[in-house]
Amino acid sequence: MNRKALRTCTYGLYLITSRKGERLNGQIANTVFQVASDPATIAVAINRQNLTHEFISDSRAFAASILSQDAPLSFIGLFGFQSGRNVDKLKDARYELGGTKVPIVIDYSLSYLEAKVVDQLEVGTHTIFVGELVGAEILREGEPMTYHYYREIKRGTTPKTAPSYIEEKKEAKSEMEKYECTVCGYIYDPEPGDPENGVKPGTPFQAIPDDWVCPVCGAGKDQFEKV
Ligand code: FE
Repeated sequence: MNRKALRTCTYGLYLITSRKGERLNGQIANTVFQVASDPATIAVAINRQNLTHEFISDSRAFAASILSQDAPLSFIGLFGFQSGRNVDKLKDARYELGGTKVPIVIDYSLSYLEAKVVDQLEVGTHTIFVGELVGAEILREGEPMTYHYYREIKRGTTPKTAPSYIEEKKEAKSEMEKYECTVCGYIYDPEPGDPENGVKPGTPFQAIPDDWVCPVCGAGKDQFEKV
């Protein structure tokens, strides 16, 4: 069995938000899909360990912001690699409250869907929440971020808690040495560099300024190890 076949499935990239009492939280998910048309119903798979899972279980509602291709890795990293148990992820985000009172994040979002949970299915590490659509709006024009674009073009990584996580054996050979973030698994590759954060293509790791941080999770340069 070649699990890499799973990689050929196509997905988007979404910011899933919910609330518990006065607390708000959100996380990245690649699995949001419409499952019925009348009434319009969507589903999302959320890891049972995640704080957002606890919030959706409590409020029985969630929103999904459809992320744009121009969403920076730092934004995706904040929601995808940090836990709401340690940081207030919505502190600097622009959001409004939907009819169900869940936060709907506007930043880097093309549109949003808001749903109230009508059913759920436990699947191994994850719960599939099924939600009836109670709100939806288009915010602006643009290209939606696909999971493929995130991984291949933006060179983003996947946390171990994602349904699509596949353990990778890192390739060793390269003329210019690659460095891996020990926090999130992001690989710094000198060939493309990190132009989004001012590091030109062809910059060896040693030549990156010391205040540069992991574009995905924000870890410092000292948290990187040679691959
Ligand atoms: Fe990182």
